[in-house]
Amino acid sequence: MGAGVETGCAIPPGALDRLRGLLGERFSTADADLFSYSHDYWPISLQWVLKGSFPWLPSAVAWPENTLEVQEIVKTAYENSIPVYAFGGGSGVLGGTVPEKGGIVVDLKRMRSIRLNEEDMVVEAEAGVNGYYLEKYLNSKGYTLGHIPQSLYVSTVGGWVATKATGQFSTKYGGIENMLLGLEAVLPWGDSVTVKPHPRTSTGPDLRSLFVGSEGVFGIITRVWLKTCLAPGERILLSYVSESFQEALESVRRILRRGARPAVVRVYDETETKRHFYMFEEAYGRVMTVMIVEGDSRIAGAERMIVEEEFRGRMLGEEPVKHWLETRFTVKEASEFTPLGVVFDTIEVSVAWSRAMLLYRSLVEAMRSVKGTLFASAHASHFYPQGVCFYFTFAGVPKGDPEKYYNEVWSVAMKTTIENGGSISHHHGVGRQRRSWLKEELDAGFQLLKKVKTAVDDKGLMNPGNMGL
Ligand SMILES: Cc1cc2nc3c(=O)[nH]c(=O)nc-3n(C[C@H](O)[C@H](O)[C@H](O)COP(=O)(O)OP(=O)(O)OC[C@H]3O[C@@H](n4cnc5c(N)ncnc54)[C@H](O)[C@@H]3O)c2cc1C
Repeated sequence: MGAGVETGCAIPPGALDRLRGLLGERFSTADADLFSYSHDYWPISLQWVLKGSFPWLPSAVAWPENTLEVQEIVKTAYENSIPVYAFGGGSGVLGGTVPEKGGIVVDLKRMRSIRLNEEDMVVEAEAGVNGYYLEKYLNSKGYTLGHIPQSLYVSTVGGWVATKATGQFSTKYGGIENMLLGLEAVLPWGDSVTVKPHPRTSTGPDLRSLFVGSEGVFGIITRVWLKTCLAPGERILLSYVSESFQEALESVRRILRRGARPAVVRVYDETETKRHFYMFEEAYGRVMTVMIVEGDSRIAGAERMIVEEEFRGRMLGEEPVKHWLETRFTVKEASEFTPLGVVFDTIEVSVAWSRAMLLYRSLVEAMRSVKGTLFASAHASHFYPQGVCFYFTFAGVPKGDPEKYYNEVWSVAMKTTIENGGSISHHHGVGRQRRSWLKEELDAGFQLLKKVKTAVDDKGLMNPGNMGL
């Protein structure tokens, strides 16, 4: 270990022997592994990597291959009061896996078996299954999960449930919580629990909810059962140019009110239309909407008719949608801008239709008002009959400390969201970046959550500090 680098928690020799005996080479305290698991995609932690500074390191990393091994690791940690951090793909953008108290990072990626039950239309997957691999497997059998986050290639099914993730096709298929039928998890003292995958059940409070969005603080999800859908027989690509953001959003609201559910709906404000669709002259200075309607051809055909009846704007054909399909996994801005000293990030929030435009305008203005901001813009990418998710992007070149500027933008964004009746997170979760605002968002619910945490995790060992718990 290099000079000046400390892990927050020493593992007693007896526990080290037990874990080495259990996992052999799948347990490591090597510097390279500790450094690799000290961060995720949280921009603050990526800055640490660029600077070569590692304020928080784990004490060890474990790669279990089955639920029994996860149980043994967690049991050993419990008996020795060692913190534990579940780690999926490490694609979280809010520092959710950062091991701030030291302890053991448990990487689930070696747990990757998949079993499809075609009659029940249910897929069983171990927590470490990679998102792209699962979708490719289902497609090969004629199915889809309908969950395609932009991080598909670098995230896991366990991480999806733990962060309450949602994908690009969510307006039709919903978020991961709508697909989750059952799960198996290892509890903080090492026992395992299975919430069975019934089509529906009315047997008391829904225990799945304890783990959906739990971000590793209540235990480790080791297996999930998810609903599958038939792969779409028909896929219709539609795009429109509107005169204003409000006009385009209003069109989408009317479509959803009538019961149509295009899978993909993305409406870009003027700034983002210029940035992403500069090659389409007709869109310049206007607002681009791209849509995909898909499913059984008869249903998709009917939904297309509703879209065409309700959308007020100029139709632009398939090309803008094809362009989006080709570029939708590209996130080069973050890696290109950051080394140049440009602070860059995205913030997603949700809001009811009645407050949507007010929140959008207030938030863009608030982020632009922070000294050093170059631009702040948004698109809307997940829609409901009740409201919408805005996905804001900001970039700035601050004169002073980049981290101070970054936190200032986040702070005005969170405050403005709460003041305008929105929720501070639509799908990225809370992690360490949003934790100081969770109390305000949940109000009395935060005290309840703290009590649940103390009851379930009496020693406070599961991802301590995450979400402010
Ligand atoms: C380029 C990019 C694009 C993204 N696009 C999207 C998007 O479209 N939609 C979206 O929702 N998110 C998106 N994200 C955010 C991120 O990918 C999601 O939050 C994803 O669900 C995290 O999964 P993961 O396996 O990488 O989890 P990790 O980052 O490893 O962990 C995230 C949190 O979940 C906990 N956790 C992980 N696995 C388990 C488990 N098995 N049991 C208990 N707790 C666990 C961790 O402790 C941590 O708190 C994006 C991120 C990036 C970098």
